[in-house]
Amino acid sequence: MTVIKHDDLIQSVADALQFISYYHPLDFIQAVNAAYEREESQAAKDAMAQILINSRLCAEGHRPICQDTGIVTIFVKVGMEVRWDLGGLSLDDAINEGVRRAYLNPDNILRASILRDPAGKRQNTKDNTPAVIHYSIVPGDKLDITVAAKGGGSENKSKMVMLNPSDSIVDWVLKTVPTMGAGWCPPGMLGIGIGGTAEKAALLAKESLMDPIDIHELIARGPQNRVEELRLELFEKVNALGIGAQGLGGLTTVLDVKILDYPTHAASLPVAMIPNCAATRHVHFVLDGSGAAEMPVPKLEDWPKLTFDASKSKRVNLDTVTPAEIAEWQPGDTLLLTGTMYTGRDAAHKRMVEMFAKGEKLPIDLKGKFIYYVGPVDPVRDEVVGPAGPTTSTRMDKFTDTVLAETGLYGMIGKAERGASGIAAIKKHKAAYLMAVGGAAYLVSKAIRHSRVVAFEDLGMEAIYEFVVEDMPVSVAVDVQGNSVHETAPKIWQAKIGKIPVTQ
Ligand code: SF4
Repeated sequence: MTVIKHDDLIQSVADALQFISYYHPLDFIQAVNAAYEREESQAAKDAMAQILINSRLCAEGHRPICQDTGIVTIFVKVGMEVRWDLGGLSLDDAINEGVRRAYLNPDNILRASILRDPAGKRQNTKDNTPAVIHYSIVPGDKLDITVAAKGGGSENKSKMVMLNPSDSIVDWVLKTVPTMGAGWCPPGMLGIGIGGTAEKAALLAKESLMDPIDIHELIARGPQNRVEELRLELFEKVNALGIGAQGLGGLTTVLDVKILDYPTHAASLPVAMIPNCAATRHVHFVLDGSGAAEMPVPKLEDWPKLTFDASKSKRVNLDTVTPAEIAEWQPGDTLLLTGTMYTGRDAAHKRMVEMFAKGEKLPIDLKGKFIYYVGPVDPVRDEVVGPAGPTTSTRMDKFTDTVLAETGLYGMIGKAERGASGIAAIKKHKAAYLMAVGGAAYLVSKAIRHSRVVAFEDLGMEAIYEFVVEDMPVSVAVDVQGNSVHETAPKIWQAKIGKIPVTQ
């Protein structure tokens, strides 16, 4: 009889979360590397190089792949003959104790991103609990667990539809993926759930993302059923949209398309689609009563050895840059930033705008500066700052006009595209919007030489920090005329790939 012990379960969950915070799955590394090698768009190739370099640094340094260390999502298959010795804890409580220990581990502190009272006070639980846990009861005497840490940027782009049975799933996916922008940090995977009910389709979509990337095996052996045909069709047609890594235009947007299906009602065709990002993080283990799970430590030789080619980048001194210099930047240019910048994301922007409305003065002078949309991980050991990649910029669009008008900022640095109101504000104020690579957070943190909190300290990771950076790589995403690389580049690459007509 298998007895699952309290310590073994908690230790296994904690170890799994630490493990996936710094080790990408090997299949993901191999797929990004293959996409990097065949990519013809220089901007997308550079972005994938940064993702791969970041991944290797994280594996070496045991630090998080991304500053967003995710919402913990766990699939548990409970063998019906399993017995429990959990010291009075429920299974949920024991799993959450594992989450707590992982996120508070002082050797590799992980950012706590989970808020209770989501429609109200939105207070951080401070230890990233609770996890979202899905159970199924199966025959046998083992506990089969898959642990994932899902980034908010990619989760936010999830889509769900109740199609008519005669509608085309392919048409819906091809119409929907461009509306997701690049905030889900491609290249990644699409998980698609088809059938069942609305909630069953969403669960299938999420569960499908736990499988390894194997589309190339499917291409080689050929499809054997309708779901495999759909996977191949969608893989080819989504990549033909030309969105590319980070939305910069290119050959690879998705590394795989996963599909799980389930019988459904004659009147229904529920479809859910959930993307997985450049910080794809999951691991699977089985507990059989013999002790805590051992995670298979990968070999560093399995990561490609790349270095970032800075030869085509313009160097920019943030302390002396002028509007005339900024006006020369073209969408798609790569810049290396050196000097002082400030940080600020959702909560800091909300507070700044509230202060302006009350006629209050900000505690810092942002005139002629750049603001970086980031919420960094706390540092450990001798680090200046923990992993500090960009967060999704469109969330700041509604504040942008006011913040630019009131502060005299020269520009912003963030992740993925801007929306129409953000672009209009950038054009109106002759500002520039620069983009750092989502999913290259540890690499970005290596460019940060000094960091200190200068305002709104009570906001924790959302406080305003002053960063002094050296050679921080970014791309020009929106120029002073309001031209956006995310609007132009995918169209150019879609036309180049030429498989399907250019859509508006
Ligand atoms: S890679 Fe992008 S979407 Fe994924 S966790 Fe990081 S910032 Fe979020």
